[in-house]
Amino acid sequence: MIRIGIDLGTTNSLIAYWTEEGPVIIPNSLGEHLTPSVVSIDDNGEILVGKIAKERQITHPELSASVFKRAMGSKKTYKLGGKEFLPEELSALVLKALKEDAEHYLGLPISEAVVSVPAYFSDAQRKATKRAGELAGLKVDRLVTEPTAAALAYGIHNTDADTKILVFDLGGGTFDVSILEFFDGIMEVRAVAGDNYLGGEDFTEVLIDMFLKHHGLNKESLDENTYSLLRKEAEFSKRSFSEDKAATLKCAIHGEILSYDITAEEYEKAVKGLLNRLKEPVERALSDSQLKLNEIEAILMVGGANKLPLIRHFVSKLFGKFAYVNINPDEVVALGAAVQAALMGKNAAFKEIILTDVCPYTLGTTVSVKKAYGHYESGHFFPIIERNTTIPVSKVERLYTIYDNQKVINVEILQGESRLSKDNIYLGELNVPVPPAASGEEAVDIRYTYDINGILEVEVTVVSTGAKRSIIIEKNAGHMSKEEISKRMKSLSYLKIHPRENHENKLLIARGERLYQENLGPIRHEIARLISEFEDVLEKQDLREIQDTRNKLKEVFNTIDNREDF
Ligand code: ADP
Ligand code: MG
Repeated sequence: MIRIGIDLGTTNSLIAYWTEEGPVIIPNSLGEHLTPSVVSIDDNGEILVGKIAKERQITHPELSASVFKRAMGSKKTYKLGGKEFLPEELSALVLKALKEDAEHYLGLPISEAVVSVPAYFSDAQRKATKRAGELAGLKVDRLVTEPTAAALAYGIHNTDADTKILVFDLGGGTFDVSILEFFDGIMEVRAVAGDNYLGGEDFTEVLIDMFLKHHGLNKESLDENTYSLLRKEAEFSKRSFSEDKAATLKCAIHGEILSYDITAEEYEKAVKGLLNRLKEPVERALSDSQLKLNEIEAILMVGGANKLPLIRHFVSKLFGKFAYVNINPDEVVALGAAVQAALMGKNAAFKEIILTDVCPYTLGTTVSVKKAYGHYESGHFFPIIERNTTIPVSKVERLYTIYDNQKVINVEILQGESRLSKDNIYLGELNVPVPPAASGEEAVDIRYTYDINGILEVEVTVVSTGAKRSIIIEKNAGHMSKEEISKRMKSLSYLKIHPRENHENKLLIARGERLYQENLGPIRHEIARLISEFEDVLEKQDLREIQDTRNKLKEVFNTIDNREDF
């Protein structure tokens, strides 16, 4: 049995597995390592995942969805064509595609996986991730946090000394800083901090803004298609700054091809504000972990956005030391998830380690506070498990009745950092009957237990009688019962998945459609003619001819695009 490791990313997802030589990335049906976390439905109602879906998102935004990991664990739905999907269902479609890629590559059925999640993922988000696995036919018996996975990929668990590292993960739309300590065979996440709305995409957005400003345009005047095309161009220009000192951003807007030359220097100036925003979470993580920068032995760079040299330089300067990029920042999390999968299989190549994590938010309850004139004011937050406490953790607090003959103690379960309960996130509640007595005579012990998978159990015991009530927090997560999961699974299984053998062809057509939109004049007619010619060849089902035409078409598209597809 092989258990695979999966990085289910906001922007891109990857699969890896363990071999004698270490973890290895499994390529997808297009032979690529990265599968964009994008889902699209085509005109035949067939599901497409990855790069094809990403191309289609430009031409068919109403039939496509992306960045759904952001809404994981919430009830937000995405409409694709006539169908509605929850974030975990779209994630399930991505996982299903990855599972099939792995099965195809390894020639084995795959039914178990380790999936990585951000360290700050709440209980509801972790459960939704597990459910996504279930919906895809994968048993996810272990979630690993992304920074822990990165550390495993770097082999931190094979070092003997006490090692403290900082993981700097700048993905597409999120920025996460984690401080880990590996000590006596235990990996501990000491602190997590981040910015949920800062990532590589913001660095692309800056280029878009510069372009629009130069041409006196504003975002609102562009339709969705045009904006997506411009975005793709900006993404390309951004990447070109890795090698070139200047880039030309071109896009057809309102029937006219507009272009703008930007130098690397101008770009660097324009992203100063974004770079500065990277500092605060680093400082917060250091202070929460009570560590100083000079106590950190290594800095691991994770996330595709770190491929931008200007970000890498900024980070090196910020830390005053070199950050590790030996392992491709795109791939490091998936590789680490595969290491974790191997550890679970008790592969002989590893010594046993225990992984621990932290609870990313403060978990607490609501209490009433006695005011100056003796009356009580309700709605005050009372922390029970403080944020960045190492998990698994179990803590107990005793609370007393505040009225004579109080019948019930209401225990609200909340998550957050605010002083007042109303500003924190409500997770659930328990109402516990207590025997009538004078105020302050009766009490309950409230025990919060947060386990290694980030699942919270709350148990309330009436001190005088020993009566217990407990709840596993499922307020946000539990909107799907077992029956519902199987019902959803059925409806997902009715979805036609586009056959993987045809992915290359489908991608080419999707790219052609995008190029058609992107260009104007006679070249469009040429693109339309080429697509329809290719479709005719596909109908004939002669594999050789298909391949020949495909290669030729790819060349033509590369010329029109002025680059290889990326
Ligand atoms: P996530 O963890 O959100 O799935 P990734 O780690 O895959 O994201 O990072 C995606 C981000 O990396 C995107 O914003 C993309 O623009 C950026 N990126 C990928 N490759 C490069 C590159 N060569 N140069 C600059 N940015 C890049
Ligand atoms: Mg990532």
